[in-house]
Amino acid sequence: MGYARGDGAIDAEEYESAREAIQQAQEALATASSGNMTRNIMRTLKETAQAAPKGATVECPTCNTMFTKNHPRQAFCNKDGQHRCKTRYHNTATEQRRERSLRFMR
Ligand SMILES: [Zn+2]
Repeated sequence: MGYARGDGAIDAEEYESAREAIQQAQEALATASSGNMTRNIMRTLKETAQAAPKGATVECPTCNTMFTKNHPRQAFCNKDGQHRCKTRYHNTATEQRRERSLRFMR
């Protein structure tokens, strides 16, 4: 009978750690979905840029620089002349996935 209060304290502690676990899971979920949102915005920007005609001013999906299309199928800026933004765009999914998995391991 004397243990009743002790049991109560343990329950409160368990409750506290469970709440912490839920909070961490919610934070991880928020991070994951914000990553997906960035990806979706980038995809929309790319589609918009690709659909615009030659000579139109569009936003680069990778670095958000406004540029004039020199080619009807161009969707990325070409500031450095090495198509770096195009390469970076296609690597983004992998980068985000790697970053996300590191967060879950912590
Ligand atoms: Zn760019």
